[in-house]
Amino acid sequence: MSEVPYDAIVVGARCAGSATALLLARAGHRVLMVDRASFPSDTMSTLYIQQRGVAHLRRWGLLDRVAARCPALDRVSYTIGAVRLEGCSRPVDGVGAAYAPRRSTLDALLVEAAVAAGVEFRPSCTLDGLLRDEDDRVTGVRLRSRGVRCEERARLVVGADGMRSTLAELAGARTLIEDEPKTCVYYAFWDGAADHFELYEAQDRWIGAVPTDDGQTLVQAYFPQHEYARVRTDAQAAYLEAVRATAPDLHARMLDGGCTERLRGTGHQRNFFREAAGPGWALVGDAGHHRDSITARGITHAFLQAQMLADRVAGTTEDAPRLDLALRSYARERYDALIDDYHDTLSTARLSVPEHRVRMIAEVARDAARTEDFFSAMGGAPRPATADSGARSAAEAVRWMRAQRAQRAAAVKG
Ligand SMILES: Cc1cc2nc3c(=O)[nH]c(=O)nc-3n(C[C@H](O)[C@H](O)[C@H](O)COP(=O)(O)OP(=O)(O)OC[C@H]3O[C@@H](n4cnc5c(N)ncnc54)[C@H](O)[C@@H]3O)c2cc1C
Repeated sequence: MSEVPYDAIVVGARCAGSATALLLARAGHRVLMVDRASFPSDTMSTLYIQQRGVAHLRRWGLLDRVAARCPALDRVSYTIGAVRLEGCSRPVDGVGAAYAPRRSTLDALLVEAAVAAGVEFRPSCTLDGLLRDEDDRVTGVRLRSRGVRCEERARLVVGADGMRSTLAELAGARTLIEDEPKTCVYYAFWDGAADHFELYEAQDRWIGAVPTDDGQTLVQAYFPQHEYARVRTDAQAAYLEAVRATAPDLHARMLDGGCTERLRGTGHQRNFFREAAGPGWALVGDAGHHRDSITARGITHAFLQAQMLADRVAGTTEDAPRLDLALRSYARERYDALIDDYHDTLSTARLSVPEHRVRMIAEVARDAARTEDFFSAMGGAPRPATADSGARSAAEAVRWMRAQRAQRAAAVKG
């Protein structure tokens, strides 16, 4: 038996942290997970889990519990100008529907599953320092819980503590790529209002309606970042007017059912990649990589990273050089898996609707297979090169992709 009490300490217990802790415990590791919050509790999110994310929940044996709480979203409508597409994306690993559970439901369910797998969980427990050995390797954490301080040691410390990650700061994780915030977003819950996932796009506006637990619908309105100062002075009025002007039918249904919770919103969504790992530490979820929420990929990416990290490090924690090798390969895999989605998201978050895009989508609307491709691309599925843009030829698309990759590689090296 090793003298180090834990193989891994995971800081943060929502979709990235609980999923990582669950997978490491299932692989036979001794795991401590802490969160300064207690559960069940909500966090800011518009809730939509893409099929790719749902496929992870199914693989982990958790989909039935999510499906018991909220409707399957197997139909999407998307309206841009006078053009309306209706359909769904292609199934991912046999999963045809997205889901949008309340975060109080999803995160609590993930915590429960992690604890059932053997994870020791301490809620209301805050990370405020790291322990290091003489080689500067991270060897544990300093914690504070209800006024009591303690230290815990582990072979690996995982930061799943969100966009403002304390662990990233304490570990000195460098920011590799950063782009300016692009949008601000406000959302509220409405009784009824929608029976499927609805999206509306217009110049400078992006409206979504997401059916969730208990017959409620979350309705979100995105604005460009440069409007944030104005919007926040009367966010309620700006939100309702954006929905009315962009999606009048949805607006009428919202008012019919009535609003059930206060408006929430943020204009502080950063776009970045941080270093994913270093000696004795790793970052998963928003702690290591954050992007605007407009493309609804954060939860799916958190699951993906949890699975990647667990796959890489399982069985290596007793041997520091092997663990470090595994962490380096996690870092490479994370970058390759998420960089294209990052650029897609920044592009959507510009909230720009050029005329040629509307014409391209009108073409797509005529063809069921292309509509399915379109919704699949929206969900983050890899796209055929020719579908990259209505205006690009296949050869242009390949050249463009190569140039993008070269630029990103240069950015990371620099
Ligand atoms: C407005 C908005 C809408 C969104 N909509 C969607 C969507 O529709 N679909 C989607 O997939 N994604 C969406 N996202 C993104 C998604 O919510 C995040 O990507 C996801 O929550 C990241 O999970 P995480 O576990 O990495 O971090 P978080 O959910 O941020 O969890 C971090 C946890 O760490 C804990 N913590 C922080 N610091 C400490 C500390 N020092 N000590 C102990 N614990 C600590 C916190 O209490 C928290 O519980 C949205 C985000 C926003 C802001």
